[in-house]
Amino acid sequence: MKGALEKKKIKTIKVNLDKCIGCRACEIACSAFHANPKYSSVNPARSRIRMVIDLLNDEYVPIRAADYTKAECDGRHVYTINEKEYSECSFCGSVCPARDLFKEPDSGLPLKCDMCEDDPPQKEPLCVQVCRVDALTYEEKEEEVEEEVKLGQMEIGLESLVGKYGLQKIVDTVARMSNK
Ligand code: SF4
Ligand code: SF4
Repeated sequence: MKGALEKKKIKTIKVNLDKCIGCRACEIACSAFHANPKYSSVNPARSRIRMVIDLLNDEYVPIRAADYTKAECDGRHVYTINEKEYSECSFCGSVCPARDLFKEPDSGLPLKCDMCEDDPPQKEPLCVQVCRVDALTYEEKEEEVEEEVKLGQMEIGLESLVGKYGLQKIVDTVARMSNK
């Protein structure tokens, strides 16, 4: 049975490596925006976008913090763009044990790009606003997703848990978790 479609806003930032000059204005703006209070300090170590700069190979790669992952991956790739090789992990935004990128300096907690969520909303993410050479461009589009599919998956998961542990145990566990 098909359910109603709901609209979901997809936000993306496109990166044009040929345009990036490694000025690091994006790092500064991001860290200032996420300072507490907002704009009270600048510390690129707290930025959700970091530049991987390899002067020798003329490599400037802005990468944004993505999801936290407990284990490092077992793949190591080399990307070739316009006949230029980019080192392994250059484009990866995952917060993983293999490197110190995107970890809050004091607590070590993972950082993640939140697209500069703000109230009222920013016209564009801060890193895009300050990039004077248009190496970063913001795009927003709406996609339709089926609400029912997600619920269906949730129901299947719950059904199997209830089948395995019994309804009362699941109810007790959810009650305990919601009190935490
Ligand atoms: S602000 Fe733009 S040009 Fe400067 S480092 Fe960031 S992405 Fe590159
Ligand atoms: S979109 Fe905002 S939070 Fe994400 S990297 Fe750019 S400035 Fe930082």
